[in-house]
Amino acid sequence: MKKLALLVAAALMCASMVACGSSSSSSSGSASASGSASASASTSSEAVSSGEETTGGTLIMGTNAAFPPYEYYENDQIVGIDADIAKALGDKLGMEVTIEDMDFNSLITAVQTGKVDMVLAGMTVTPDREENVNFTDSYATGIQSIIVPEDSEITGPDDLEGHKIGVQESTTGHIFCSDDYGEDNVIAYTTGANAVEALKTGKVDAVVIDNEPAKAFVEANEGLKILDTEYTVEDYAIAVAKDNTELLDKLNTAIAELKEDGTIQSIIDKYITAE
Ligand code: GLN
Repeated sequence: MKKLALLVAAALMCASMVACGSSSSSSSGSASASGSASASASTSSEAVSSGEETTGGTLIMGTNAAFPPYEYYENDQIVGIDADIAKALGDKLGMEVTIEDMDFNSLITAVQTGKVDMVLAGMTVTPDREENVNFTDSYATGIQSIIVPEDSEITGPDDLEGHKIGVQESTTGHIFCSDDYGEDNVIAYTTGANAVEALKTGKVDAVVIDNEPAKAFVEANEGLKILDTEYTVEDYAIAVAKDNTELLDKLNTAIAELKEDGTIQSIIDKYITAE
């Protein structure tokens, strides 16, 4: 976990520097972020390609590589639970996997328009998203956690009322907090790291974000804690285009096999140490 904390620290430093790509203006930010990330993504694609027979062609995975330990950069490579699961799925399907990094809020469109074949991004299944894409069976559980400064008076979801809440744009934290506490109280940042940075500088009073990135961010930053009370419990699944039912079926079969033989659990255990 130390190593991950260092990586997150690096990501946070990176997030505070404008030169690092993912800016808050999403459309232009997205273009340049995915442009520069594509170069690294092709390197990382070598890392995730199976090296085995790849008769079935290439599967392009879309993600937002600012979500440790599901996806993050290790040097110029995208690694993490989702990258490893994608590789394992590719191996099952006899396909090579390449990764495209982009803003989280571009992912649904990217899969709808065929820019990518599938999205693995710690993405939660929601009814609204299901109107635009199909989701595979779930491969992991996510929890929306609340991060606050150690001396905060906020002790649970009810106390968030009337406070400024930082979230990552277009995520379930953003969607649900806007519904529950009103849009005016919610400030959306391009990455979770940016939201945590805003918490540290007092621009927001709490950050609502998925629990595993929350743990990594808190570990990398002094003076923050995660509240014991969970905000929501969610299912992570792979998004594919509505008309690509062939891929959906293949992925579901492969997910079932990888669950059955323990591969998915061992990938999760590799990145998440049990408490
Ligand atoms: N699970 C959250 C969602 O689907 C956040 C995912 C992410 O930021 N990568 O909205």
